[in-house]
Amino acid sequence: MRLLRHNSCTSGPVQATSVNVLSKAKRLSIILLISVLLIIAISLTANAYTILSRWRYNGGNMTVTYTWGPSMPFSSDWKTAFSTAASDWSAVPTNVDYAYNSASGNKLGIVNMPSGSAGYFWGVTDAYGYLTSFSAAGNTNQAVTGTYTSTMKRSTAGHELGHGLGLGEENLRAALMNQNRNRSTVYKPQQDDIDGVNFLY
Ligand SMILES: [Zn+2]
Repeated sequence: MRLLRHNSCTSGPVQATSVNVLSKAKRLSIILLISVLLIIAISLTANAYTILSRWRYNGGNMTVTYTWGPSMPFSSDWKTAFSTAASDWSAVPTNVDYAYNSASGNKLGIVNMPSGSAGYFWGVTDAYGYLTSFSAAGNTNQAVTGTYTSTMKRSTAGHELGHGLGLGEENLRAALMNQNRNRSTVYKPQQDDIDGVNFLY
């Protein structure tokens, strides 16, 4: 211990003091070590997902349907992004799947908005706070998504469909629900997103 260097050639009583200094230092490092281990343990185990409003759920497998809203072109990259993202959500191990149904009350489309959001979500809830329908859209504003690749649009669509299952924003992990995720690499549901849906249903 470098702490003891000044006292190393002195006699008994000072050495006793040195021992105290050393044990204090030891205690401090033990406290520090425990804190670091606790922080690591928490960050490894704690979920980061957040919850908005979920659908009423009675157990078993549940299907959330979607259809194209009037703003969705017959053929567009956003349409592809949303249908791919719906398949992404259906492919992960949860009790809830997305499926296209032309009679669905959940409408997917496009919107041209000047704000910085690449996608939009509007949910409707009942008196109990359960989700009853929703609309989601990709932002076609060139200043916002003009440079977006199909993968980045898929990530955006998947994020909005995550809201459609009841997940909120999550900005701690590389999750699909993270608003600041890398949309080129995080474009389908991640473990934290799956954990969130499994918590809800
Ligand atoms: Zn969001």
